[in-house]
Amino acid sequence: MAHTATKLPACANCHYTFPPDRPNEFCPRCGQQNHELSLSAGHVLEETLEGLFHFDGKVFRTAKLLLFKPGELTKRFLEGKRMPYVPLPAP
Ligand SMILES: [Zn+2]
Repeated sequence: MAHTATKLPACANCHYTFPPDRPNEFCPRCGQQNHELSLSAGHVLEETLEGLFHFDGKVFRTAKLLLFKPGELTKRFLEGKRMPYVPLPAP
């Protein structure tokens, strides 16, 4: 999702000062996303729904293949097509 929130002049976490003409999306020192700290209730709701449905989409897609075409899921996994599906737990 595109974040249109206002960029901060310095990182809220490590206080790195961003170049004034080009505020970064992420802090190059610590990696924290650079956006205004106060969020509206609508934005929080939007982010929550995005997270839920994005995750659920992967769950339903994976479960459908596991139930009806388990070999197809294995084939796609071995072909490297892994992003649309729930990731395997780390060994
Ligand atoms: Zn930082």
